[in-house]
Amino acid sequence: MGQFEKISEHIWIMHAEHDTDRPIIAAIAGERRTLMLDGGNSALHAQQFKEYLVAQGVRLPDLVVLTHWHWDHSIGVHAWNIPIISHSETAKVLTDLKKIEWTVAALEFLSKDEIINDESMGHILKEYGDPSSIEIAVPDVLFQNNLLIELGGVTCEVLHVGGDHASDSCFVYVNEDSVLFLGDALAPSVYGGPRKYTSSGFLKLMSIMHQFNAEIFIESHGVPTERKQFLEEIGAWEKLAQLVENYQNNSDFILKELAGSSI
Ligand SMILES: [Zn+2]
Repeated sequence: MGQFEKISEHIWIMHAEHDTDRPIIAAIAGERRTLMLDGGNSALHAQQFKEYLVAQGVRLPDLVVLTHWHWDHSIGVHAWNIPIISHSETAKVLTDLKKIEWTVAALEFLSKDEIINDESMGHILKEYGDPSSIEIAVPDVLFQNNLLIELGGVTCEVLHVGGDHASDSCFVYVNEDSVLFLGDALAPSVYGGPRKYTSSGFLKLMSIMHQFNAEIFIESHGVPTERKQFLEEIGAWEKLAQLVENYQNNSDFILKELAGSSI
């Protein structure tokens, strides 16, 4: 798998890189406008994707939408120097983060305060070396529930879904390509104490996900996956969450049910 890929008629992506926790970033190009999905984790990350888009002859992004505030999705966004669209809660967190003077001590403080964690701190230091070059951009266009973005023959729906991972998480559905970007929404919480999932939160996300008739599903730190495979894989988790929901925390019942099934 290369670093970059055109995954459907209107979508080009830069694949996730786990070394410094870079998520997938994408350009969705319509006839009039190109929408960037997430900003990247640094200006370097953004620059590498920009060079690829230029080489491919793709119109450079006019707008960028953030799936949630987490550093790896948002810190690179300033480098695009274009209007930033986000959920209002994403904007609120980034407005607070903009006040920080970025030093190693500041990162340690954020980690101690569980706003980020030690793993993220390590990734930030590896991506940046010196964190003083971190620049936070504040979003320009805010929404509460959902938003349609018309790019010229391509419509993207941005939908606030929340969940355990980050309460500002959004899905982005590219209608004409039947591609659903899930951000990190299906992942467990990573900040604010030990990682955790709630069955009700996960099942709510599943019911929203099933409302989109997507052919390709994209989790930010995974790889784009075709419908059949994705639903099979996520179906195992969905079943487990349903069991937890049905039997609450009665692990004997849950284990018994699991033993009788294929997951
Ligand atoms: Zn995240």
